[in-house]
Amino acid sequence: MEKEYHILSLSGGKDSTALAFFMKENLPEIFEKLELVFYDTGCDLPETYDYLNKIEIFLNKKITRVKPAKSFDEIFYTNPIIPSPFKRWCTVLLKVQPSIDFINNIINKNDYKKIFLYVGIRADEINRKGVLLNSELEKKYIIPQYPFKDYFIYKSDVKNILDKAGIGIPQYYEWRARNGCYFCFYQKPIDWINLYKKYPDLYKKAMEYENLAYKGKKYRFGWNSKYQLKELIKPQIMNHIICNNTKILNKTENNLQTKLYKLFT
Ligand code: SF4
Repeated sequence: MEKEYHILSLSGGKDSTALAFFMKENLPEIFEKLELVFYDTGCDLPETYDYLNKIEIFLNKKITRVKPAKSFDEIFYTNPIIPSPFKRWCTVLLKVQPSIDFINNIINKNDYKKIFLYVGIRADEINRKGVLLNSELEKKYIIPQYPFKDYFIYKSDVKNILDKAGIGIPQYYEWRARNGCYFCFYQKPIDWINLYKKYPDLYKKAMEYENLAYKGKKYRFGWNSKYQLKELIKPQIMNHIICNNTKILNKTENNLQTKLYKLFT
């Protein structure tokens, strides 16, 4: 029989975590041999690291934490460019390349013939692309698996799985919309303000990166396309962002109430 290897990469977010718990419950034979991996940028939120520790305890399974060849600081201080949606070097060097190296290493060392890669794409995520297999080596060995699609698991099911397991959702959702590095350029201005309030040291560190990236440059590319981080925390700007965010939240709530009203009257 050909040697098989099963791997699930955890992001520290809801879906991949729910998939691990789902597999433990519904696919126990695979879960037993499943390797849980976290590609650690070293820049994730403290809540993410806490959540990973909790996952290990709740699942009674170790998570392999894979570090990139060079840390964010080593890369950034060599060439101080803030990553952005147009220059997303962070994902390539801190997440994608380490995952390629990790899997290649497994193939070379262990003589596995098939590598099953479990991905937490849900049944409702019809537009989301699956795993991109680039090299011939990847195409030859890797077989992506999407259990949530196969078992018709939707967004609302994910929360139920995590609640039922007793672990719940990661705590950063209380103040931030998305998972990822504390300085992720995808976060909204309100998330930056929340980061500033919750972890002023991390905000200060992100500000230092930005100051260095700006130094002596004519064109400036910071973490946020609208505000420089040192501006964003000026009381006037901060209040404006908080106020706008409250308006958006109220509007969403009113829309929801109107929809419910129409539904039940
Ligand atoms: S979370 Fe954001 S900053 Fe971190 S690697 Fe991903 S895209 Fe880059």
